[in-house]
Amino acid sequence: MPGMKLTADRIFDGFTWLEEDQVLITDDQGRILDIVHASLAGDDVLQLRGTLCPGFVNAHGHLELSHLKGVTERGTGLTGFLSQVIQQRGFEREQVIDAMTRADRDMYLQGIQAMGDICNTEDSIPVKAASRIRWYNFIEVLSSRDEGRAQRLAHYTAIRDRFRKDLRDFQDSTASISASLSPHAPYSVSPLSFQDIDLATHGETISLHNQESLAEDELFRSGSGPFLDFYRSIGMSESPIGRTGRSSLQSVLPYFNGAQRIILVHNTFTTAEDLVFADHMAGERGLSIHYCLCPNANLFIEGRMPPVPLLMAEGRSLVIGTDSLASNDQLSIASEIGAILLAFPDVTLGQALKWATSNGAAALGFENELGSFTRGHRPGIILLDDDLSIQRIC
Ligand SMILES: [Zn+2]
Repeated sequence: MPGMKLTADRIFDGFTWLEEDQVLITDDQGRILDIVHASLAGDDVLQLRGTLCPGFVNAHGHLELSHLKGVTERGTGLTGFLSQVIQQRGFEREQVIDAMTRADRDMYLQGIQAMGDICNTEDSIPVKAASRIRWYNFIEVLSSRDEGRAQRLAHYTAIRDRFRKDLRDFQDSTASISASLSPHAPYSVSPLSFQDIDLATHGETISLHNQESLAEDELFRSGSGPFLDFYRSIGMSESPIGRTGRSSLQSVLPYFNGAQRIILVHNTFTTAEDLVFADHMAGERGLSIHYCLCPNANLFIEGRMPPVPLLMAEGRSLVIGTDSLASNDQLSIASEIGAILLAFPDVTLGQALKWATSNGAAALGFENELGSFTRGHRPGIILLDDDLSIQRIC
């Protein structure tokens, strides 16, 4: 590919809209060399119809679940969904790898340049080693009892170290850490397991599924609700943390003391009171909190959108994820943006694009490489048309 001079009807640089008649100049690797006015760009400027934008950052997904496309039933609520996923068995390893490979390719074509991916096994390593997407791997810790946690944590730490070692050679990056331990959710991790995860992740980026269902808060506030039936169905006699009288987020956020970047995923039932609490915790503990929206998955599982206007108030950082093909028909950030703009007409395209680019890159710690048309960065370049369909330029 030769170097390029590109202009379009509009250019979004990851943070804001550029003024008219600007030209993006890249080298033959797609690295941003300069942005100049058309009068200074010289010849050979390619004029495109639509919006030029940096490649998207998918802040939350589960590549490993790609083979479950079309297998799970819609509208079952979170506990019903979890039961369905747990019951899936009998897929050949080859099918699982094939589905991941297809999903990786589709996401790249859909303009996704980086992804925060939840990992339960090492299965995705070969797919990622051959991928053009930059990955941050959240090794998901399920540890519902204090007893035996050292053994479980050792298991997950070994997976994390395998990701760090095996993917380092393949990823074009100066960042040394691209894998960390991450608690699955407030309802599946015990108190001492949370403490151990905190100690193992100081200064790192982690992810936590948060308040995806009303049942989650009910479990923590009153110790009752659908989660108790779910626990019984998987052979657990009680909830890992028990009744706290507070929301799930307020019950578990205080476990984190180590200046982590925390991506809270879903936030469908997060309240104004929770956000004030989280803001306070972030200030006190040096945490950097990012709220990840996965609207299509929320519509699939619970039939409800997250409270976007509430989450975006007070300058909080929003990011966007697709979740997995178990709870989504496609892995497309453009489709998630479309769902957000449809449900919340006051949200502008520029705001949503910022969440999908520079905010996502900052949440994953990739802001020095991706998410914006900053000189020296190689963020990928995509073209959106008015109906949000994507064409990848490089
Ligand atoms: Zn998820």
